[in-house]
Amino acid sequence: MYAQMVCGLCQRHEVLRVGAVFASGLLRAIRFLQLNWKELAADIEAGALSPRVTDASVREAVAGILRPDPELAQFIRDECCNDDWAGIVRRIWPNTKYLDVIVTGAMAQYIGTLKYYSGDLPMACTMYASSECYFGLNLRPLCDPSEVSYTIMPNMGYFEFLPVDEATGAASCVDAGNLVDLARVEAGREYELVITTYAGLNRYRVGDVLRVTGFHNAAPQFQFVRRKNVLLSIESDKTDEAELQRAVERASALLRPHGASVAEYTSQACTKSIPGHYVIYWELLTTGAGAATAVDKGTLDACCLEMEEALNTVYRQSRVADGSIGPLEIRVVRGGTFEELMDYAISRGASINQYKAPRCVTFPPIIELLDSRVVSSHFSPALPHWTPARRSD
Ligand code: AMP
Repeated sequence: MYAQMVCGLCQRHEVLRVGAVFASGLLRAIRFLQLNWKELAADIEAGALSPRVTDASVREAVAGILRPDPELAQFIRDECCNDDWAGIVRRIWPNTKYLDVIVTGAMAQYIGTLKYYSGDLPMACTMYASSECYFGLNLRPLCDPSEVSYTIMPNMGYFEFLPVDEATGAASCVDAGNLVDLARVEAGREYELVITTYAGLNRYRVGDVLRVTGFHNAAPQFQFVRRKNVLLSIESDKTDEAELQRAVERASALLRPHGASVAEYTSQACTKSIPGHYVIYWELLTTGAGAATAVDKGTLDACCLEMEEALNTVYRQSRVADGSIGPLEIRVVRGGTFEELMDYAISRGASINQYKAPRCVTFPPIIELLDSRVVSSHFSPALPHWTPARRSD
C-alpha cells in the first residue's frame, strides 16, 4: 500500500481512475493516506523510499519512479494537513474520471462516504464475481449505483437459479426439480445463484440473492439483492442484510444535520439479558463544519428508534405487542475500530482485497474487540409504531 501510494502521488497527473475491488478497500486506501501523508511527503521531498518498505523488488520498482520533488511534497502537505478532506481524490488526482469500485450489495453503504472523498466522481461497478467463479459484467458501467444490473456470462460456468419464495425470502432446496436454467429465469423474480464450475464445484450455492431486472438480447440481467442468510434474529423476527442496511441508512439521515454519517457498522443479536435485543455498532465519520462537535446523545437515541421504525413488522410486533425483544441499542465505537477488525481478519488469513466488513458478528474475540472500543451506548427511548395487520378473510 505504501509503495503504491508513493507511486500514485508521484504520477498524480497520469492517474485517470482510482479504485479497488470493493468500496471498503478504497476507503482503506484513503484512510492510509490520512495516517501516512507526512511520511509519504517526506519520502517525496528526499526522493528516497522509507525503510518500512523492505521487499527488494518493490524498492527497485519504486526507485524507477521516485525523484526528489519538494514542490510536490509541499502540495501534499498543504492538501492533507487540514481536516477538510472533501473532494481529496479530485484534488490530489485531478485527472481522475471515475472511481472503479463495487458499490452494490453490502458495499452500497459506502456510497455517501466515497462521494464525499471523491467530490462526486461517478462510480463504475464493472463486475460481479467471486473467488469461485466470474459471474457477470455491468454493460452500463457509468449508470447510477442504484440501477446497476449485471449480465451473467454463460461461458464462465454453468448457472442455475433457485427461486426465492417472495413471502418468506427463503430459497427452495437444491434438487433438479427446483432449479431454473439461466435462459428460463423470469423478469422481476428473485433467485439464489447456484453454480457448477470448470474447477469442479457442482451445484454450489454461492449465497447471493439476485433479482432479474431485464434482458440484454436474450441474456438475463440481475440486480444484486443481498446475501442469503438471515443476520439477526431474537425469536420469530428475521432481519436480513438488505433490511439492516435500509434501517441504518434511514437512521443515519438524522446525523446529517450534525455533519456526521455512519462510516461502518455491524450488528449482534444480544441475548445476554432477557428479553434479547439488537445491538448495532456504529463507527461515525464527522465531516465539514460540524466535524469538531460530537453528535449529541438525544440524536443518537433517536437513531435507535428510527432504526426500529425501519425494521419489519414481525420485529415491531415482538417489541410492541409481545415485549419479547428489548429496545434496540447503538454502540458508537471510536474511529479506526473497523480497521482493527479488518487487521484481525487479515491476521487470521483473510485476503485484504476481498475483505468485507461483517454485517453481523458472533465470534467472541471480535465482539470483545468491538466492546472494548465503545465510546457511548444508546437505547431506543420509545416503542416503534406497530398496528396489527388486518386479516382478509
Ligand atoms: P469473494 O469470493 O470473497 O471475492 O466474495 C464474493 C462475493 O462478494 C459474492 O458472492 C458477492 O456476495 C460479493 N460480490 C462480488 N461482486 C459483487 C458485486 N458486484 N456487487 C455486490 N456484491 C458482490
